[in-house]
Amino acid sequence: MRIFNFSPGPAVLPEEVLRIAAAEMLDWHGSGMSVMEMSHRGKEFISIADQAQADLRTLLAIPDNYKVLFLQGGAIGENAIVPMNLFHGRTVADYVHTGEWSKKSIKEAKKYGTVNVAASSEDKAFTYIPDRATWQLTKDAAYVHICSNETIGGVEYQWTPDTGDAPLVADMSSHILSRVIDVLKYGVIYGGAQKNIGPAGLTIVIVRDDLLERALPITPSAFHWKEQAASDSMLNTPPTYAIYIAGLVFRWLMAQGGVPAIEEENIAKAKLLYDCLDASKFYASPVRKQDRSRMNVPFKLPDAALDEPFLKGAREHGMVQLKGHRSVGGMRASIYNAMPIAGVETLVAYMKEFERAHG
Ligand code: PMP
Repeated sequence: MRIFNFSPGPAVLPEEVLRIAAAEMLDWHGSGMSVMEMSHRGKEFISIADQAQADLRTLLAIPDNYKVLFLQGGAIGENAIVPMNLFHGRTVADYVHTGEWSKKSIKEAKKYGTVNVAASSEDKAFTYIPDRATWQLTKDAAYVHICSNETIGGVEYQWTPDTGDAPLVADMSSHILSRVIDVLKYGVIYGGAQKNIGPAGLTIVIVRDDLLERALPITPSAFHWKEQAASDSMLNTPPTYAIYIAGLVFRWLMAQGGVPAIEEENIAKAKLLYDCLDASKFYASPVRKQDRSRMNVPFKLPDAALDEPFLKGAREHGMVQLKGHRSVGGMRASIYNAMPIAGVETLVAYMKEFERAHG
């Protein structure tokens, strides 16, 4: 029996993908072996990696002058890898501070150069995205970094900032492939795979060609974008099984109608949940309306003493991982691409029932 898993990540994967992986576990396409057992340089695995990259390019309409890298290290690793790859010849990078994940990015970048916090929403406990007009950008900055969806706080950019000549770098870990984006507006897009893409262990980097010339000499080869691009992300052994599952997720997403179609579904799922919050005097959403995330929906009950009974009842109704992050408290429902609308409907019905019993 499958449960509705609202985990922020590692997160729910499409059931169809898990079934294909199970069927192919012992013998991938007549090769007589599992994908896990394949040489990353063999023709079978290279065909898997090439297809995964081609499908991701199609799904996000990635232009030819961008490289797609399949790396390791996760998004926290990338927080250091980004400055190492972009600071050559420049001293300052601009960061927008919108919550826990941008805070971690800032902390890491400070080891490699000067960080200017161009804007922050700390004054209101990171419940909004600062308007672009308030950002204090540095002239000749190496880049401008944003976390385009804060997984913990549940704030999401519904717009793409214009950063002029400075390349825009976005941590898209928790909403990549959930909505249509214009890749051309970004210099670098990165993210860990374990929300909308596949298993933990795979990190995706999409980088514009001209930015491959800006790495600091200390950059380790395994994390050196130009060196990795030159070896098709196979300078070291890539996370092969995670790439295979990501490829199956990309195929699944294409079968759903691609990113525009899943975006419509994500809008509908988020609306269902936010409408429930807004119609209730029992539950409260802390986030400014226009900045609400479609992927991660934090909400509070009127009394923290009700949190445990709420979670216990949710489990009895077949729903898990609804506890909010300790830094925010309350609840959080992560409703990524692979969360079926039935999961959100079940949650909303349960929330109404719980409110009737405790309101
Ligand atoms: N950035 C964001 C937006 C995230 O949601 C996460 C993980 N929840 C991370 C970075 C860190 O990812 P990892 O643990 O894979 O390094």
